[in-house]
Amino acid sequence: MTPPSSASPGPVDPFWGDPDDPARELAALDDDTDEPVTPLTPDEREDVLEDMADLEVFEALLDPRGVRGLVVHCEDCDEAHYFGWDLLRGNLRHLLDYGTSRVHEPAYGPDPTLYVTWEYARGFADASLEG
Ligand SMILES: [Zn+2]
Repeated sequence: MTPPSSASPGPVDPFWGDPDDPARELAALDDDTDEPVTPLTPDEREDVLEDMADLEVFEALLDPRGVRGLVVHCEDCDEAHYFGWDLLRGNLRHLLDYGTSRVHEPAYGPDPTLYVTWEYARGFADASLEG
């Protein structure tokens, strides 16, 4: 068996062929919202897509260990905000669609012991992938 000649050796777009490709949602913006849309720059968009990919890894590794999401220190409120995996994913999608995030809508009544920082999650993922 030989691979198709069109096969590329480069990195694969993680959203290629994915029906949930966040880019699709850009076409689905409807009128029943008055939220202003501030398009992200290509670089910002790339960062958000990377965060979404990281998030998938973090959830896959940490959720089975009882971690419910990530804690982020909010500069505006000067307090920690807790986000479950679904909220984090929703926020990143919202960021892609509107150019703003909803960081001040954290999880309700979270148990702080069930959340870790983004840095912790990244370190954990790096260690897991190396081993
Ligand atoms: Zn805040």
